[in-house]
Amino acid sequence: MKIYNTLTRKIEDFQPMDGQQVKMYSCGPTVYNYAHIGNLRAYLFMDTLRRVLKYNGYSLKHVMNITDVGHLVSDADEGEDKMMKAARVEKKDPFEIAEFYMNAFLQDIKQLHIDQPEMIARATEHIECMEKYVQKIIKNGYTYETKNTIYFDTSKLDQYGVLSNRSIEEQKAGARVEFDSEKRNISDFAVWIKAPENHIMKWDTFWGKCYPGWHLECSAMSYEYLGEQFDIHTGGIDHIPIHHENEIAQSKGFSGKVPAKFWMHVDFLTINGGKMSKSLNNLYTLQDLADKGYEPLVYRMFNFTSSYRNKINFTWEAMEAAKIALNRLREGYLKHCEGTADISQDTIKVWEEKFENAINDDLNMPVAMSVVWEVVKYPQKSKDLKALLLKFDTVLGFDLEHYQNKEQELPQEIQALVKQRDFARQNKNWAESDRIRDILIDQGYTIKDTSQGTMIQK
Ligand code: AMP
Ligand code: ZN
Repeated sequence: MKIYNTLTRKIEDFQPMDGQQVKMYSCGPTVYNYAHIGNLRAYLFMDTLRRVLKYNGYSLKHVMNITDVGHLVSDADEGEDKMMKAARVEKKDPFEIAEFYMNAFLQDIKQLHIDQPEMIARATEHIECMEKYVQKIIKNGYTYETKNTIYFDTSKLDQYGVLSNRSIEEQKAGARVEFDSEKRNISDFAVWIKAPENHIMKWDTFWGKCYPGWHLECSAMSYEYLGEQFDIHTGGIDHIPIHHENEIAQSKGFSGKVPAKFWMHVDFLTINGGKMSKSLNNLYTLQDLADKGYEPLVYRMFNFTSSYRNKINFTWEAMEAAKIALNRLREGYLKHCEGTADISQDTIKVWEEKFENAINDDLNMPVAMSVVWEVVKYPQKSKDLKALLLKFDTVLGFDLEHYQNKEQELPQEIQALVKQRDFARQNKNWAESDRIRDILIDQGYTIKDTSQGTMIQK
């Protein structure tokens, strides 16, 4: 399996450090609002990576954090805490905000068939572990105190900026002029912050009533569950220049090591070629897609049209195409379910190899999908091809296996009509069977009579 490593800027052969188990950490959401479909692209990438690793026979110990404290409006120590801001706007307790949007996020990823990591770690439940972590960095001499903040001193490192390859000097040139005058270097960042009087999310700590800096949570929690070094760290490309540099800095201050061997970053979703933003009114959630008639799995399919390292551009036309593609995949699968043809093992092997080469080539899903379409389109119907599609589906994640049973979830009155129609057909009462079919069609269903019975779909 080959993957692109942001740290070395090369495609490399992947091998876990420790036998067959892959230890992985993913930066999770800040739960102050509903996830938009751009955010969800990041977790679809994470899920595809998990599935490809499993396809290759690895087991996973995967941790994802939920940021429910400490993430300021800017990643670089500026602005209000995102949770506090949402709480103020919604006139709610920040803990309530976190609970609500965390559950909404978990619901979203479930609907997209994104498998949950083995461990989901909430920042607010790991304050003690962060406290211990930061105290060791302090003891190792990597920090300095100002009135309200303990800063990480990036000039103490032999090199800061290993991921983005930017020196402190270059960062200075790119930075905005006004920055906290108490900071010694432009790239220094807060690790422990004194909470103002009105701050709700704060804890009694070694430095008084404080809350942790955002970057600290990922370092402390990845250390807690995965140790000083692990295999893969994932996130969005926006994490490269600040958040992940700071995680590496903290880890060097803690143990002298870069925490992960491989760093993988997913590029952004754009909308009509531009940025998604509230002000442009083009910030969509899964619910917005559902309101336009697109089930979450259509969005999953859409994401396979691009490699995770490229931008992907969202348009409604592209969603329509993905909807058609998903239907084609399901129909192709159902077609092969009914098949009786024998397909030679050699032919199957060729497809299998092509698919495996694609997914192991840095998760090249567009090429993997082209193999899937060859199998779907194959004119002979065959259970061997059904089995092949199910194998591929362990990576694709459409849950094809249960697709044929979806009619069991139909409303009761529709199920009753299907039964009445089956009865009419058994008795060769074609007029009655046609009458019921017309009612079902009127209600928005498509019906197919197969050797395994009636297939019905909304
Ligand atoms: P946040 O909850 O703001 O910390 O973001 C969660 C994840 O979404 C991060 O990994 C970001 O890199 C990612 N992200 C934010 N906007 C986009 C976008 N437009 N396309 C893809 N990923 C994004
Ligand atoms: Zn993180």
